[in-house]
Amino acid sequence: MADSKKKSHLTTWIVMAIVSAIVLSVLAPELAAKLTLGGEIFLRLLQMVVVPLVMASVMSGILGLGDVRKLGRPGGYAILYYLATTVFAVTTGLIVVNVINPGVGIDKELVLDAQEEGAEAVEDAKNAMSSGRKKIMWSKNFDGDKFLLESKSSSGLSNIVYVPHGRQMVIDFKLQQLGTAEQPAQVKIYWSAEPKSELQPLQWTDHAGLHDIYIAGTEPETYHKTVQIPKEARRIRLEYQAQKGGASSLMSAELLRGPPTVGDIFSNLVLMLFTNNLLQSMVEMNLLPVIIFSIVFAGMLTTMGKRSDVIAQFVIGINDAMMSFILLLMKLAPLGIFCLVAARFGKAQIEGQFVALLRVQAAYMLTVLTGLGIHAFVTLPAILWIFTRRNPYRFMYQMSQAILTAFSTASSTATLPVTMECAEMKAGVSKRSTEFVLPLGATVNMDGTALYEAAAAIFIAQAFAVVNPDFNLSLIQQATIAVTATLAAIGAAGIPEAGLVTMLIVLNAVQLPLELIGLILPVDWLLDRFRTAVNAFGDSVGAAVVDHSFPDSEQNVAP
Ligand code: ASP
Repeated sequence: MADSKKKSHLTTWIVMAIVSAIVLSVLAPELAAKLTLGGEIFLRLLQMVVVPLVMASVMSGILGLGDVRKLGRPGGYAILYYLATTVFAVTTGLIVVNVINPGVGIDKELVLDAQEEGAEAVEDAKNAMSSGRKKIMWSKNFDGDKFLLESKSSSGLSNIVYVPHGRQMVIDFKLQQLGTAEQPAQVKIYWSAEPKSELQPLQWTDHAGLHDIYIAGTEPETYHKTVQIPKEARRIRLEYQAQKGGASSLMSAELLRGPPTVGDIFSNLVLMLFTNNLLQSMVEMNLLPVIIFSIVFAGMLTTMGKRSDVIAQFVIGINDAMMSFILLLMKLAPLGIFCLVAARFGKAQIEGQFVALLRVQAAYMLTVLTGLGIHAFVTLPAILWIFTRRNPYRFMYQMSQAILTAFSTASSTATLPVTMECAEMKAGVSKRSTEFVLPLGATVNMDGTALYEAAAAIFIAQAFAVVNPDFNLSLIQQATIAVTATLAAIGAAGIPEAGLVTMLIVLNAVQLPLELIGLILPVDWLLDRFRTAVNAFGDSVGAAVVDHSFPDSEQNVAP
């Protein structure tokens, strides 16, 4: 009892820390922004525990079951729960955005500006996807022949490039106008389906109609265009007509693989389960393969009889030590959280982001927050009550330290230690359920992210329609958004703003200009906090539901 009182106290301290940090960031943003160091130390301490904790807890969970086969049903159930709640979240996001319509009638200038500002973010996001923390494959370059053209400003024909069978390919042009020209540079594409047949001009349609020529502009700019080529094309050649009069122009073109299909994205997700280098996955905090390894390793231990006793004791010892470490860390939580929140909100205040939020993005923010609110306060509580008959709001209170930590860190992976501690010590979820279900949930179950991806993609589509009145978002495209948003959320890393990166997959799948993420960029740092909080709460509801549904696991439900 005394213990629980002490912890309630901690929740109050954390709430006070967040509120006072926000107040400080508004009143004295320069001072608040200086607290980065304190926040970073707290974040690193949390992250430091994650990998050993996940390995030790998953292994000790399996050792506790005594037989890895006993994991089958609860494991399957957990995955089903995660998938179902993600689908509910996406559906909520779609409904809310279609009711509020935040992008309909948005200021045209705003969309064009955002598109310009978004270009850099797209490059960053692509880099993030192909670097160490990569979670989902983007789109592979094609290592075939390259288009070769004569030196700058000379018109002419490129070499013939052979196109591989059976893949949607695109041509990516860059036409760089080095100064103002009198007449723009132009490119024509020729193709043939048979290796030997005559090349003919390619016609393509985009939002502006039917074309057989790409015309750049006369202003000193880089004109960028992607054209899909027919699947049956076997040979391609380009004809380049340089600008006339004024400064010269440069042209380069690449044959690339088209956007990944839903099948590609899915198979990539499956691949994410496995690693060829366990240590690298640990270093990159790529938890899925670490979990898989831990399950298999502990499963082996359970078949080794007495010979594995020493290792088993060792693993269980590490697990207990990690949990005590987290308890110790939680004592620092109010201070750490104060620094984290003050530093980030202070930075936002200095950069004038608060004003931007309110002026430009109010309807979009309202959409995402309403969706997240419905999921966190209606859908998840209803699920918890239906399956366990527990008071969901009391459960939410018991998990409050984890939810607040998720809000403050914007990282569900960094929050995992706190989520596990709260679920076990405060919400009374059995050790066996938290040890396995929560690490898995923190990695694959991101309800908040899924909801946001779906709502943001539709918002972007609505805004795009403002600048391209011909563009119409069909039902099929909405369905594609729903499916890719689910997959993108499963694949997103539990790190800050990972959802913004995987957003490219969703936009790519429905052929919306990626640069339009510039529209959601200014508010992402804030919305990220809310969706991470929903992610962490969703995981813990999952652990409670699985726990209740498999009463053969030890029960120590709190009164
Ligand atoms: N920051 C989120 C998380 O860690 C992921 C996201 O960006 O939506 O759960």
